[in-house]
Amino acid sequence: MREATAGARGGAAAGETASEARFDVEAVREDFPILHRAVHDRRLIYLDSAATSQKPLAVIEAMDRYYRMHNANVHRGAHRLSEEATTLYERARAHVARFIGAAEPAEVVFTRGTTEAINLVANAWGGANLRAGDAILVTEMEHHANLVPWQMLAERVGAEIRAIPIDDDGRLELGALDRLLDRRVKLLAFTQVSNVLGTHNPVAELVAAARAVGALTLLDAAQSVPHMPVDAAALGVDFLVFSAHKMCGPTGIGALWGRRALLEAMPPWQGGGEMIGRVTIQRSTWAGLPQKFEAGTPAIAEAVGLAAAIDYLHGIGMPAIQAHERRLTRYAIERLSELPGLRIHGPLEDRGGALAFSMEGIHPHDLSTILDRQGVAIRAGHHCAMPLHERLGLPASARASFYLYNTESEVDALSRALLQSREIFGLA
Ligand code: PMP
Repeated sequence: MREATAGARGGAAAGETASEARFDVEAVREDFPILHRAVHDRRLIYLDSAATSQKPLAVIEAMDRYYRMHNANVHRGAHRLSEEATTLYERARAHVARFIGAAEPAEVVFTRGTTEAINLVANAWGGANLRAGDAILVTEMEHHANLVPWQMLAERVGAEIRAIPIDDDGRLELGALDRLLDRRVKLLAFTQVSNVLGTHNPVAELVAAARAVGALTLLDAAQSVPHMPVDAAALGVDFLVFSAHKMCGPTGIGALWGRRALLEAMPPWQGGGEMIGRVTIQRSTWAGLPQKFEAGTPAIAEAVGLAAAIDYLHGIGMPAIQAHERRLTRYAIERLSELPGLRIHGPLEDRGGALAFSMEGIHPHDLSTILDRQGVAIRAGHHCAMPLHERLGLPASARASFYLYNTESEVDALSRALLQSREIFGLA
């Protein structure tokens, strides 16, 4: 992986580490055209990056350039444009590999996103390796994307789903591992950072515990890869999945990283063009990695956009982005804690920038509607984590989530809008 060198937007001066570097958020904001638009005649304050991030000009222009100059199908045509498109597509794969610390680009499979990557593992690995009586261990805080595919698999093969509970602060109860993790568990699938509570889960401990019983690990990195340095090899997990659209890239693409030996041993999932070696009417042989798992025409322009997003994030430096979000989240917790009737869910420290909360007396959906009128975009609902909300005893929650382009003044505006919502509801 390349060093997170200081870029134009977050340069480290002599003696400063990149993560302590001055971070010029106003310069970053200039890179995102959408942040200049108004909503309901107010300046847009976008606090929904955990759902999807906004896109910098560099990404928009890279995709535009691709369609204007290079568009062709990949790996097929013996003509110039096809060669260029293939080069760009494979270059994107190499970018992803470097960015997440993969040993080689062939271990990176492009998918439609996190959800499809997990479905791929559930079907290809799970279908081949899971038997009746086996178990898959998840956590109570998982996104539905890291739960439902395992349920479907478990149903099919007669396996069991177990879940590590969380405590009242929204951290995993690791003490429960003694009871939950035995030799029947074949896979531990968990999120690195909660999309609701912002909880950072202890990856090393969980990986060590899984290994001790011979279970594999799948890390849902949808909420970590966009926000912090992530090195798959150093983390020791077996599979890692994420989506481009949460990290300044386009929708419609994401990746599965897996260890070569595991991917090689897995049968393909979807069949079609690109993923074959030789085809006869009766049967086929498979292509090597990673094409074996990429049936059909892939999302080529989106891969180009993802590569541009990686260049963009790398130019700023992931440690600098993480440090900025930490500061901002700490500030938001301080400000929101001052508000009457407001309860923050999840840990108050050592956490990511997804901040779920409830306002006493106001339903989260009403809250988000009132805030929207002020130009403040937050999310309300179960955030695709119904079991987590059930555990918290909440039908829904409101969630503000931060990214590299958010500012303290936006947090102030959120806080003011929340106070106003109390006035509108006649709450003291
Ligand atoms: N896991 C987590 C932790 C997420 O936050 C999300 C997106 N909200 C997903 C999985 C699913 O990602 P996608 O919809 O891009 O497939």
